Amino acid sequence: ESLVHADADGEDTAVEAALRPKDLDEFVGQEKVREQLDLVLKAALARGATADHVLLSGAPGLGKTTLSMIIAAEMGAPIRITSGPAIQHAGDLAAILSSLQEGEVLFLDEIHRMSRPAEEMLYMAMEDFRVDVIVGKGPGATAIPLELPPFTLVGATTRAGLLPPPLRDRFGFTGHMEFYAPTELERVIHRSARLLDVEIDADGAAEIAGRSRGTPRIANRLLRRVRDYAQVKADGRIDRPVAATALGVYEVDARGLDRLDRAVLGALLKLFGGGPVGLSTLAVAVGEERETVEEVAEPFLVREGLLARTPRGRVATPAAWAHLGLVPPQQGGK
Ligand code: ATP
Repeated sequence: ESLVHADADGEDTAVEAALRPKDLDEFVGQEKVREQLDLVLKAALARGATADHVLLSGAPGLGKTTLSMIIAAEMGAPIRITSGPAIQHAGDLAAILSSLQEGEVLFLDEIHRMSRPAEEMLYMAMEDFRVDVIVGKGPGATAIPLELPPFTLVGATTRAGLLPPPLRDRFGFTGHMEFYAPTELERVIHRSARLLDVEIDADGAAEIAGRSRGTPRIANRLLRRVRDYAQVKADGRIDRPVAATALGVYEVDARGLDRLDRAVLGALLKLFGGGPVGLSTLAVAVGEERETVEEVAEPFLVREGLLARTPRGRVATPAAWAHLGLVPPQQGGK
């Protein structure tokens, strides 16, 4: 189990709920999305109308669920939370839609993973607040139209480009969530530390922020592990050395790379001279599945400018050699 992957796990869900900002003012960073959303919501409130459908795109753990809850709170509306993979049949969606209250926010996580028939039902629901429920099978099947109360759909996806254009076009507003700057993560960490009643100084927060991969969920998770360490070894107070040592214990390095990330990078440098090397060969070298290397380790290494994917294979950048404290072999001249 690595600490730096942004998927929620069991422990997280409970603590994360406690750490969630409750309104737009408490929500750190994402200035653009926050400002745009603030206008959308205020205008809808002023008109006494239900807010337009909102699409949120961005990597896991950047706050899409949190933002959808804030949208509901700001609108004074209840929220229903579900996800694309949970909706297997159009009937599942019809059941949810027909039980919504007027003005309710429906949060649909991983909306790109909904089934095709459900997606088509959603088009009509979003546009006309109506669904056709199909009763019966074959030639005798009839469509019974069902009126829905106006609601606000908040869809979340890792990339807006994954959505079919007809679905994308039915959102009145698309907010793109960016990775957080270190100073923003420091604010998240200070805020969470206050809520968890942990003492932390500025350098301690900066140390954790620098290892959090631009992601608040990871920042909160690292903070909790550092807190454990501080309680056992350092009177519960977090400063830079305590944070650095604690995260060393958990094998999260100064840039936020974990054991797998470093294994991939290490193999690329030490076994293949920095590449180019094929993905499969690299995966075998670290004893992992291709998919794990490609989907779990590489995106962050690429984003950090440590690894490049080229047509000839994976290549390490000069920064990769520097990060692992290795010297690249002499190039060219023989
Ligand atoms: P996923 O797509 O995996 O569901 P997500 O983008 O919905 O992830 P959230 O569950 O909303 O992410 O956020 C994860 C945690 O990070 C929350 O517990 C929340 O406390 C914290 N968090 C997210 N964004 C912010 C923010 N802007 N300010 C403060 N804390 C935040």
